[in-house]
Amino acid sequence: MKLLILFFALIIPSQSQGASTASQLFLNLLETVLAVRSGEVDSGTIKINLPDAPPRFLDEQRFRVFAATDVSQDEIDTTLQHVSDAYELWMGSPYYGKNQAKAIYIMITGKDLDAGEVANREYCDHLADTGFAAAQWCNPDTYISYVTNGGASISSMAPVDGFHFMIIAAKDGVTNNGYKQMAYHEMFHVYQHTNVFSDSVDEVDSKMGRMSGDNPKELVAWWMEGHADFFSALYSRDARGFKDEMQCALECTGPFSVSRKEKFFEEGLKLRNISWDQGDLVDLGYRLGSWFVAYLASVHGEGALYDFWETVDELGFEATFLRQFGVDYRTYLDEFEVWLRNPNEDLLAILDDIYASKARQISSTILTDNGSNSRMASSGLVINDNLFPRQESQVACD
Ligand SMILES: [Zn+2]
Repeated sequence: MKLLILFFALIIPSQSQGASTASQLFLNLLETVLAVRSGEVDSGTIKINLPDAPPRFLDEQRFRVFAATDVSQDEIDTTLQHVSDAYELWMGSPYYGKNQAKAIYIMITGKDLDAGEVANREYCDHLADTGFAAAQWCNPDTYISYVTNGGASISSMAPVDGFHFMIIAAKDGVTNNGYKQMAYHEMFHVYQHTNVFSDSVDEVDSKMGRMSGDNPKELVAWWMEGHADFFSALYSRDARGFKDEMQCALECTGPFSVSRKEKFFEEGLKLRNISWDQGDLVDLGYRLGSWFVAYLASVHGEGALYDFWETVDELGFEATFLRQFGVDYRTYLDEFEVWLRNPNEDLLAILDDIYASKARQISSTILTDNGSNSRMASSGLVINDNLFPRQESQVACD
């Protein structure tokens, strides 16, 4: 009885069904857009598929929230506003990956370990009750790290698992820019995952660009995380905040004693080789990765980045990169690393145009659309908890 009051799931119906006519219209439109866009893209070879979500996507609901009882309704509402806005930006209809843009489970932890434990159990129970295979290895202790250290992550591989599992810590409050940016960062990962259709973990990692280092067995951060950092800064902040975040990605020290940019060149690293196995250095994969994405956006436009993600399933990371940007990714990264040596004011100069020409806007959110704020009991579990082992709370400038 108390559980019903203490642990909630907010459910917003998925609106992805019955869109075949609209989808076809969208395909036609998209083909037209692709055909006129970039001389570097052979638009004739691009075929957009709209596969159905695989049967393992058992849950048609868009969002379910598993909130610890020490997280207030206001904090839950703020969180849902952020994720709904981010959803609207990147997964609003019409949208290529929309068939997997559902079953997004959001565990919100507060400061209380016991409350976090219950929310975590509710989540695990939901997986079991729904029939997800992942219920068998649901980690009941995922909450501990978030209650203790804060941060956020996506701890699932949706194309394989059949759902997205976001954990976000509200321990430091939800009204700060950092919290909003974390939520957007994680929702961009959801967007990325919705575009890959495979039941193979390696194949998903490969299409996500996580196996693009010289040693494909070491998962690397630059591509996937660089996008999440760049897009969350671009869309969760105003123009000043966006530039501050990007400047910090270059000039703040983060976990180091010198600026990130200095650290990168001091270490003699290649961006494509920075993996989660390298401790604090992975920070550079995120932050300088966001600069590579900004660099691409300044040359090809923001839309080219969406085109990459929304077609990557067909050919995979490497070939899609080549098709989309006209140069193989290793060469492009080498070029970028030379450009990065320019004075910071020259680098920062690309940001104004990027912000001024933002391609997306939040027109209306799911919350305001249907006014739904119903809650229901539910709960949780964790899969692939080391998929994003790094706490992602250090988004804000230090
Ligand atoms: Zn991330």
